[in-house]
Amino acid sequence: MALAAARGLTDRATARASELTEGGKRIDDHQVLAERVAYAATEARAAAELMAFVERTGGKLTPQLARLATAGICGLAVSARDRLNLVLGDLRIADEEVDTFYDADVRAALRRGAGQEAVREIGREVAESGGRHRLPLDSTLEQVRDTVRQFADAEVAPQAEHIHRHDDLVPDAFIEQMSEMGFFGLSVPEEYGGHEMGNLAMILTTEELSRASLASAGSLITRPEILAKALLAGGTDEQKKTWLPRIASGELMVGISVTEPNVGSDVASLSCRAERATVDGEDGWVIEGAKSWCTFAGRADILAVLCRTDPDPAKGAKGLSLFIVPKPLDSGHEFSFTQPGGGRLEGKADATPGYRGMHSFTLSFERWFVPAANLVGGDAGEGRGFYLQMAGFAAGRLQTGGRACGVAQGAVEKTAEYVVQRSQFKRPIIDFQLTQYTLGRMTARLAAARAITYAAAEAMDEDERAAALLAAQAKLLACDVAVEVTQQGQLLHGGWGYAEEYAISRYVVDALVLPIFEGVKPVLELKVVARNLFAA
Ligand SMILES: Cc1cc2nc3c(=O)[nH]c(=O)nc-3n(C[C@H](O)[C@H](O)[C@H](O)COP(=O)(O)OP(=O)(O)OC[C@H]3O[C@@H](n4cnc5c(N)ncnc54)[C@H](O)[C@@H]3O)c2cc1C
Repeated sequence: MALAAARGLTDRATARASELTEGGKRIDDHQVLAERVAYAATEARAAAELMAFVERTGGKLTPQLARLATAGICGLAVSARDRLNLVLGDLRIADEEVDTFYDADVRAALRRGAGQEAVREIGREVAESGGRHRLPLDSTLEQVRDTVRQFADAEVAPQAEHIHRHDDLVPDAFIEQMSEMGFFGLSVPEEYGGHEMGNLAMILTTEELSRASLASAGSLITRPEILAKALLAGGTDEQKKTWLPRIASGELMVGISVTEPNVGSDVASLSCRAERATVDGEDGWVIEGAKSWCTFAGRADILAVLCRTDPDPAKGAKGLSLFIVPKPLDSGHEFSFTQPGGGRLEGKADATPGYRGMHSFTLSFERWFVPAANLVGGDAGEGRGFYLQMAGFAAGRLQTGGRACGVAQGAVEKTAEYVVQRSQFKRPIIDFQLTQYTLGRMTARLAAARAITYAAAEAMDEDERAAALLAAQAKLLACDVAVEVTQQGQLLHGGWGYAEEYAISRYVVDALVLPIFEGVKPVLELKVVARNLFAA
């Protein structure tokens, strides 16, 4: 009932928003409305995916899982309705029409499903299980999840705090072990040296690593995934054979360089130039310009750099091309490399409150030479860089949905442990109703984020282009859930939640970056989610 109500109302709102924006063409004239509708539709979609997940579990449906899913779905249905409330006038949807979807029976069902009794029950169960609430999966995927979890618990978790507090680089030992375990090639086709286990296996791996630490292991697979997907979408056969096996094996670490100091969301306006040149008798391109926020750029063996190859700014996105740029390695916070032909590449990591371990660099390219063979797509790839990069970003968003679920899971576990151990007013704080409710709600929100992320992963296996919207919606919701859940967990830790000694403080600052990269939240909502939804 909750799902039908949320779907009915958000479908109606989406249809009206589509009319008002002329199929998404005039979103900028209705940004606030578009954002609300896009988000509410995402919540309805997450509710549908959580329902579908539960329906598929068959014999594995326990009363706990049913309660969790019900609370998740009802919570999303309430939130979608409330979110649309302020723009109903603009959408020309009358209150009476809302009531046809959310009638008295539905409202009563929502009060039961997302009500405090049910959610507190979840909170108590989560505290008892130490937060280890997981959605059931098939046996192969359960095995993947368990294997990664063992590695993350044994190797990553013990070092995560030190790496964060000292802003160390991800240790090479993690990369070596993850390479040996095949983590970098999970979604790469077998013919290119990958394991072809599909996107869900890749997401589960990312999630389990991020549960231990977003920055010291959970984010290592993201950049290889983005470049692999861009190469699969538009690389030449030769390029796929050259680069994919080395990416899949973990031999090559990758950086993705799109953002510039003055250009972020408006990717079509990038100004970093690449010009054809012959250097020391070799044909290729020289790159000139500045880039910013290039994560892992020091340790990376190759950077995927989006450059303007057509100097005419009027060409916009059609003037951009994607290059695979090899470079030497450096494990510090600053580097400067020169090429025999005179090219120079300098980098300096920008200090950040979280996401330490990965190090994100501002880069300066001065006539840095790249062989002609490294233009993705060959000569035919000239001017197609934007399209290829966007294919990569769809994968990146899915990846980030997985990372967000992992961070939120880590926060739920740390909080579940804490509220049992901490006593105030002569009782463990889990005995208080509000603690139970908050922990239960954190878990129900996480279940919704997981369901939409797993659904996006499976949809990506079927048809990557068609799944781009769902991947963006998964990223949108899961990243918000990670921010919310980590902050709720921090509050339940009280003052100790603010101490670096307690992992929850790291989860909070790490989560904050999630809604920013791979499309900052407002732009993701408007330019990807709303635009796709309203065009449909
Ligand atoms: C830790 C970290 C790591 C990163 N790693 C990478 C990486 O590896 N590679 C890479 O290329 N980039 C990376 N990024 C960059 C990231 O992708 C960008 O920060 C992001 O795309 C947003 O760009 P921006 O920061 O320039 O924000 P802007 O584009 O300036 O946007 C700022 C705000 O302006 C508003 N806004 C902008 N446009 C619109 C609009 N059309 N309508 C309404 N509102 C609008 C929104 O509120 C938005 O949040 C990283 C960033 C961080 C913080």
